[in-house]
Amino acid sequence: MANSHETFEHLKSAGLADVDPDIAALLGRELDRQRGQIELIASENFTWPSVLEAVGSVATNKYAEGYPGKRYYGGCEVVDEIEEIARTRAKTLFGAEHANVQPHAGAQANMTVYFAVLKPGDRVLGLSLDHGGHLTHGLGVNFSGKLYEFHHYGVSRDTMRVDYDEVLAKAKEVKPKLIVCGGSAYPRTIEADKFREIADEVGAMLMTDMAHFSGLVAAGLHPNPVPYSDFVTSTVHKTLAGPRAGFVLCREEHAAAVDRALFPGMQGGPLEHTIAAKATAFKIAGTEAFRDYQGRVRANADALAAGLISSGLEVLTGGTDTHLVQLDLRHTEWTGLAAQERLDEVKLTVNRNTVPFDERPPMVASGVRIGTPAATMRGFDEADFGEVAAIIAGSLTDDADVTALRERSEALCAKRPLYPGFRGYTEYVA
Ligand SMILES: *Cc1c(COP(=O)(O)O)cnc(C)c1O
Repeated sequence: MANSHETFEHLKSAGLADVDPDIAALLGRELDRQRGQIELIASENFTWPSVLEAVGSVATNKYAEGYPGKRYYGGCEVVDEIEEIARTRAKTLFGAEHANVQPHAGAQANMTVYFAVLKPGDRVLGLSLDHGGHLTHGLGVNFSGKLYEFHHYGVSRDTMRVDYDEVLAKAKEVKPKLIVCGGSAYPRTIEADKFREIADEVGAMLMTDMAHFSGLVAAGLHPNPVPYSDFVTSTVHKTLAGPRAGFVLCREEHAAAVDRALFPGMQGGPLEHTIAAKATAFKIAGTEAFRDYQGRVRANADALAAGLISSGLEVLTGGTDTHLVQLDLRHTEWTGLAAQERLDEVKLTVNRNTVPFDERPPMVASGVRIGTPAATMRGFDEADFGEVAAIIAGSLTDDADVTALRERSEALCAKRPLYPGFRGYTEYVA
């Protein structure tokens, strides 16, 4: 006999904890995990409760292939308004002529631009992956590296920063159709104005991938690449603190090509529930409160870098202009992998990362990437990040007292609760 919980009538109104206690329990455990450790992965954040609500909304039920006013399905009048608001807010926030808010994530935003302007085999110039670039910037096993002829510039050995003379020389040699700037592990300002000059000199188009720093741009704390770029792509879930998703900004002249490249070019129906959440995230990103939050993200990154350096650790480029700090472990006996595992033991969640000119393979690596957006979202201030730096430095020693260090992390988590008042997934409230 069927379990009474599995009747159609019951399923139609029952909540998650009731229907699927296994998944509800795991989501509860994931919430506890997020609450109980210090999240320092530079690409992660804790989004707003309002965004979580929109992501979990009934807009997930709607098919809306096409764009507002030009859909292939009936019943799109409400999601049209949602998507129009999201597009308008994205354009206003970043001062762009056109926005496409349908990319499911950052990788799809980049794919959209590539499909809009490149043909298979075209040459592209981007930041080398082992110097901080992203896999969609031409990794061999990624679609970008398979479809296009990617060439790479790197950072200079002396400064560990992008050397614009080298980029120009490379661009003259390669003659790319598109230049890509921005990356996933580059702690300094991306100077789109300088890339624009280089692109103009070699007749290339410019795409800035601001996936990591778009929150800082929205807050006016990083130069806005939009005026200098033909295309700007981004995620919404990193510094921008919205739902897991992507978007593309471009000049009006490229609007039709971008829209066609995404649909029908590569995606089917848009995730209108996520687009609703993007609209909310863009609204929040335009507030004074958000500018204040990003200001704290920046101040905390400076405090973290200063704390690490004063404890004798090395930080790439000697600091940061952004939300992320790259710990360079080449002068210690620690590999990135060993450091990541030790920090895990003391409840600091980071990811290992190669440093430029790393002699270790990526799975081991000689660096650790550390970001401030998530912990800042739960209220960490500069003093807290000084303590985080001290815990990191204390952990990366032979005789570290792991238990005592873990207790210090737990004390910070207790002082700065995540989603206070949120009851989790064990109970369904109708
Ligand atoms: C994170 C990131 C992306 C991709 O985002 P996903 O949402 O993971 O697909 C693209 N470019 C850069 C530079 C990134 O850091």
